[in-house]
Amino acid sequence: MHASPEDIAIAIALLRCGRLVAFPTETVYGLGAEALNAESVAAVFAAKGRPASNPLIVHVADEAMARRVCAHWTPSASLLASRFWPGPLTLVLPKAPCVPDLVTAGGPTVAVRCPSHPLTLALIETLGTPLVGPSANRSGAVSPTCAEHVRESFGEDEVFVLDGGPCVGGIESTVLDLTGGRPRVLRPGLVTPEQIAGELGGPVDGPGAPVGDAPARSPGMMRSHYAPGAPVRIVEAGGLAGLLAACAGPAVVLTAGGEPVAPPHRPIAMPAEPGAYAARLYAALREADAGSPPVIVVVRPWGGGAPTGVWRAIADRLERAAAPRA
Ligand code: AMP
Ligand code: MG
Repeated sequence: MHASPEDIAIAIALLRCGRLVAFPTETVYGLGAEALNAESVAAVFAAKGRPASNPLIVHVADEAMARRVCAHWTPSASLLASRFWPGPLTLVLPKAPCVPDLVTAGGPTVAVRCPSHPLTLALIETLGTPLVGPSANRSGAVSPTCAEHVRESFGEDEVFVLDGGPCVGGIESTVLDLTGGRPRVLRPGLVTPEQIAGELGGPVDGPGAPVGDAPARSPGMMRSHYAPGAPVRIVEAGGLAGLLAACAGPAVVLTAGGEPVAPPHRPIAMPAEPGAYAARLYAALREADAGSPPVIVVVRPWGGGAPTGVWRAIADRLERAAAPRA
């Protein structure tokens, strides 16, 4: 069921009194609260069980609203906003004083993006003030890519859900830091470093590039994240049979290459094209997890070597889903 104009009116009334509203975007569903209201923002951290060290992204309706939450706005930010917004690119810039410290985890920078979903753009525009919107799930778990996923995590009296249908992108936005010498991707996503470099006409650093002596860091980027209940193992196609033979019970296997999976193990067929794979990934992990299998096996979906383009973002999410749990 899709949200109606009345639902938007209800959402606005709730947000104005500090309540939480889940909203659809092209990446995943966000858990929304007024970004400039510290009490509302605190309610988001509490509902998610999110560590205060993990800053939130501020969602705006347009570039003008983005400028209000940034102390400085740069020509690069303008270029990228005009090319990629509304869309899955988050820009990190110096924060304006109106942004509560809680939003930025106490830091001097703010992450801002304009999401591409007509319902949510209408919501933010009518509200007239930006929203924080981390994924609408408990901290560390698999992100929601449809309204039903949000309802699996939060009760109706806790979170009002604006149903905008399934998310077309399916994984979280690319986070790009514009506060250093060179633009730097802190979190890979659907907008690739190559696209950003092409737009800016200059080099873009990846998350691994060192800053001084230390590796680059995005606050709150935890090693284990996006994780279902069952353990996740990533294998190359050639290693699948051996791994399944050693399984204690019936595993669920995400395959994008049509690799054979014999009973009692259960295959979930994934798209071979990276955009479609990303859009399907979190729903597939939830489906795989539903029967509490002993293990979820993911056959590495990109060819040999390091992943490129959108596969890089998918690899990042799979590695975090498979990482040892804290
Ligand atoms: P989420 O909303 O859960 O997808 O997570 C937002 C992510 O954006 C955080 O985990 C950080 O990696 C990143 N982020 C948010 N604010 C900042 C910031 N001020 N500087 C760098 N990264 C940020
Ligand atoms: Mg999240």
